[in-house]
Order: sequence, then C-alpha cells, then structure tokens
Amino acid sequence: SLEVSGVELAFGTNKVLRGVDLQVPTGRTACVIGPSGSGKSTLLRAINRLLEPDAGDIRLAGESVLTGNPDDLRRRIGMVFQHFNLFPHKSVLENVTLPLRKLKKLDPDQARAAALGQLELVGLSQKAAARPGNLSGGQQQRVAIARALAMEPEVMLFDEATSALDPELVKGVLALMADLARTGMTMVVVTHEMGFAREVADQVAFMDHGVVVESGVPEQVFTAAESPRLRQFLSQVL
Ligand code: ATP
Ligand code: MG
Repeated sequence: SLEVSGVELAFGTNKVLRGVDLQVPTGRTACVIGPSGSGKSTLLRAINRLLEPDAGDIRLAGESVLTGNPDDLRRRIGMVFQHFNLFPHKSVLENVTLPLRKLKKLDPDQARAAALGQLELVGLSQKAAARPGNLSGGQQQRVAIARALAMEPEVMLFDEATSALDPELVKGVLALMADLARTGMTMVVVTHEMGFAREVADQVAFMDHGVVVESGVPEQVFTAAESPRLRQFLSQVL
C-alpha cells in the first residue's frame, strides 16, 4: 500500500500541505478532488520526491520513500502530468525508451522491445517514429502513460491528465486509465472528472487548504458528504 501520513510542506511562508493523510491499498485507485490551490499537485509531487516534505512520512510497501535514491523511487512510481512533458525533439519511441535506458538500465534492444510493446497496448505503435508535436493531445497523453507504464511501476500518479485535452479526446484517455485501474494498478488520480471518480475510484479524497478533509467510497462522498466544505465544492462542480 501507499501511505501518506502527516505530510507538511511549505513554499517559504506559504504552508501548502498541512498534515495530509491518505492510504491507498495495493491495487486500488484513489481519486483526489478539491479546489484549485488546495495542494493536490504538491501532494503528488511530494509522493514522487519532486518536492521534499517538511514533516510526515510517505511509505510504499511499508518502506519510507523519503530516504534512499530518488531515481530508485521514480522507477517504482510513474507520474503523468497535465501537459504530457514529452521531449519534443525526440521520437515517440525515444521518449518511451529513454527512462528504460537511464533508470532501468536496459540495453537498447530490450528498451526498444519493451517500449514498442507498451505503445502497442495504448494503440500507438504505428506512431513510434513520429515526433510528439505531430500527435493529437490525446495521443501524446497516451504516449506519456505508455512511457510511465513501461517502467512497470508499483504506483501510478495522474495529475489532471485530461485537463489540457480537447473534449473529444478526453474519453479515450479516461478509458485507458479506467482499464489500468481494473488491471489492479495502484493509482492516485487528481482529477476534475467527477464521473471518472465516481465510477472508477475505490476511494475519493477531498482536499482543501492542504489537508484531506474527508475521504470515503465514491457513493459516500458524492451522495452523503459530511463536511460542509465538500458539500459546497460538489454543489459547484456537479
Ligand atoms: P489546481 O487544481 O489549480 O491544479 P492544486 O490543488 O494542484 O491546484 P497546487 O499546485 O498544489 O494546487 O498549489 C498549492 C499552493 O502551492 C498554491 O498556493 C500555489 O501557489 C503554491 N505553489 C505550488 N507550487 C509552488 C512552487 N513551486 N513554488 C511556490 N509556490 C507553489
Ligand atoms: Mg494541480
């Protein structure tokens, strides 16, 4: 399981995470919802060690992720961002093989085979030689997901993976994420897609002002929220 406990993180005097608790059992999907600025992206970046918490702990399979080599951790935790973060001057195939070479230390043939296999799974093997800029946003995001999955991570983090996509491209990416959840990947999904949270999440966590204010199964959160702040948030987004 992934266990976030009491995580605090400030940018200067701005306390952005103020004691975040979140437990995601292995094989389950947690969706994190909440208003802009509540600390959702900061939380994901702390889990992936792109940011260092000031206090608290983050444990994966019982071990703290805050010590040891960050590269080792990034092999175990895949992250997908809103803006894809693909290398524009490299081909789709090179984008996927790069972390396999650098982090997983695969040789070129192994990396190529693993990358092509993963591109096949997201339906993009025919785009292997293309530059990311020549793909649609939805295709680029599927490449970013393939790049993360090729590492065979234990956990996948998604930060607004569909927010930058044209509406007609959102469905395909959400369907891919839902498939991944069904195959038993452990996932933390920050999303504004309440339909996805409702249908795919095992657990929905509502963040506000740097804490998880309320969490539970989707049915509970969406139809019987206890916190007034969550009720107000839902009345604005549903
Ligand atoms: P959104 O829904 O808009 O993506 P969010 O919940 O992901 O919002 P964060 O991006 O985590 O929110 O930001 C939380 C707070 O932290 C904001 O006040 C933001 O200005 C601040 N913040 C985020 N990143 C940095 C940074 N690198 N340096 C300074 N302040 C930051
Ligand atoms: Mg964010």
